[in-house]
Amino acid sequence: MSDSVQQWDDILADLLVECGHCHGPMSPLPAGAAEPAYECLQKAHDKCTQATMPALELEDYVAHQVLGEMAKPAVADALTQALLTMVETDLSTLTEDLATRDALDGVPAEQIEARRRELHAERRTLNRFMDEDTFSPRWLAEWWDHRAAEAPHRKRQLCASFFTRIELLAGPAPEPDALYDDRVVLHWKTWDDPAGGTGPGGTQ
Ligand SMILES: [Zn+2]
Repeated sequence: MSDSVQQWDDILADLLVECGHCHGPMSPLPAGAAEPAYECLQKAHDKCTQATMPALELEDYVAHQVLGEMAKPAVADALTQALLTMVETDLSTLTEDLATRDALDGVPAEQIEARRRELHAERRTLNRFMDEDTFSPRWLAEWWDHRAAEAPHRKRQLCASFFTRIELLAGPAPEPDALYDDRVVLHWKTWDDPAGGTGPGGTQ
């Protein structure tokens, strides 16, 4: 889908990553490492240590699954709404933030204006999700790799919008061209879709 290298940017930080053997939480360890691995913190089962997976590998897999899901027309509308809600939330936080700063001296107006422009630009980008001529898997991959990469929290929010939790299991690595990795169990959220369409999931 994309041959750019996925950066480790902790996109699963807002999600529960769980050990599929003892159901304890998993965390990227060692903390602060350049290339951490998700490890079971509970280790209550023989197989727990075998469920360890490099964070980069897991992120890359989840990113591909998310991009594939986003490319489905049925998901696009719900996704657009989810993204717009995120931006609206950010905008209202920003408005409060700006009000607070207005009350303070010494915050450069250009700095506030720059942040405001940034959010409006993002909102314009999101509007393109609704443009059928623009919306394509290629465009999404581009957006994910470049635009969203500039704001890692956006990827985190997206991942948290797609899954309730992710489980990792011990097992052999998949073939290089395999679409799915049986060691990763993705628990998809179903979108609250007013049109009654199908939400994410059902891909396996
Ligand atoms: Zn475990």
